[in-house]
Amino acid sequence: MAKVLCVLYPDPVTGYPPKYARNEIPVITAYPNGQTVPSPKGPLGFKPGELVGCVSGELGLRRYLESHGHELVVTSDKDGADSTFDRHLPDADVVISQPFWPAYLTAERIAKAKKLKLALTAGIGSDHVDLKAAAAHGITVAEETFSNSISVAEHVVMMVLSLVRNYLPSHQYAVNGGWNIADCVSRSYDLEGMHFGTIAAGRIGLAVLRRLKPFDVHLHYYDPHRLSAEIERELNLTYHPTPESLVKVCDVINLQSPLYPATEHMFDDRMFELVKHGTYLINTARGKLCDRDAVVRALESGKLAGYAGDVWYPQPAPVDHPWRRMPNQGMTPHISGSSLAGQARYAAGTLEILECFFEGRPIRPEYLIVDGGNLAGTGAGSYKLG
Ligand code: NDP
Repeated sequence: MAKVLCVLYPDPVTGYPPKYARNEIPVITAYPNGQTVPSPKGPLGFKPGELVGCVSGELGLRRYLESHGHELVVTSDKDGADSTFDRHLPDADVVISQPFWPAYLTAERIAKAKKLKLALTAGIGSDHVDLKAAAAHGITVAEETFSNSISVAEHVVMMVLSLVRNYLPSHQYAVNGGWNIADCVSRSYDLEGMHFGTIAAGRIGLAVLRRLKPFDVHLHYYDPHRLSAEIERELNLTYHPTPESLVKVCDVINLQSPLYPATEHMFDDRMFELVKHGTYLINTARGKLCDRDAVVRALESGKLAGYAGDVWYPQPAPVDHPWRRMPNQGMTPHISGSSLAGQARYAAGTLEILECFFEGRPIRPEYLIVDGGNLAGTGAGSYKLG
């Protein structure tokens, strides 16, 4: 019997289950690169479209785990030495956590988790796990690659348009009873003709480029590995050999790289010196890719015309986090990858990985980040341990 410790975000303050806006979600069978969606053997413990990412939703895992004799502990209490998470960690065989409400598996916590064999990310992005320590302790780290990539890509497009068109302040004027057209449009531009660049053109970055192509923008990208000549031609892409080269020419920049030591604070004062005056920056990748206070300074000086994203550090962000109050921003809590459609896929993927783990079957290589004491699968392409 195994103990599975699952950290999820709290239930809606309006109660669980919520009243759903729609009765169903579209059925997706494969991702754009042909990879199939999660395919667990057993039945799902939820109906796709239900809220399963919060504590009462339990990712729909309870029936499967308990029917196989395992123990499931679900909590949102994850921070501090007296947290429920810390109390259960020493006995846990499996930890499940979502990037939206991450249980930070630091080297210190990993050292205390003597029984831990699998750290499973329900979603994409396992930077909340100290990957080096996990590798050193023989812990497998896995996530559901592609499960919510399109969810995030759609969110990025929404944020690009809402910043450039000055949507959020204009909406607020309407809500407040105003009709201040001049106030609204004095910061409102057309995206058409602008230069848009993504730093990292992986699953999300490429999906964003494809979605923006019909807006008649000039598309740019930087990635350690160049896309195929066919894709570059199809999207009329300009490749940049460094992020610095890209930021000097783009009007809108999208950050989509994984977070690891070498990418932490990629956007600092030095990088903001290079950007054009009035650049828009979108970051749905990870908060720590940006120096927190440098972002605030860049907005205040006008170097940035706008900043939008849904990723912060730490998460949840404290109430006095400066990104909550800085000017010309469109921040949300970390939600882009947790749409109801995204949840259905990463919860099904979590079940698929658990079935493989408990039945001793191999986990799909595209789901692996760390395995056998080193980076593996997708992790070997996207992360670096140092
Ligand atoms: P992918 O693994 O498909 O793509 C990551 C890309 O980043 C790869 O092309 C990789 O390059 C590239 N890369 C690696 N290092 C660097 C670097 N130093 N500079 C620029 N690019 C780099 O992942 P996804 O596109 O699916 O996700 C990207 C990130 O988005 C995740 O790591 C996660 O942090 C975040 N995310 C956020 C979500 C949210 O809800 N806000 C949800 C899902 C993901 P290559 O492999 O060619 O070497």
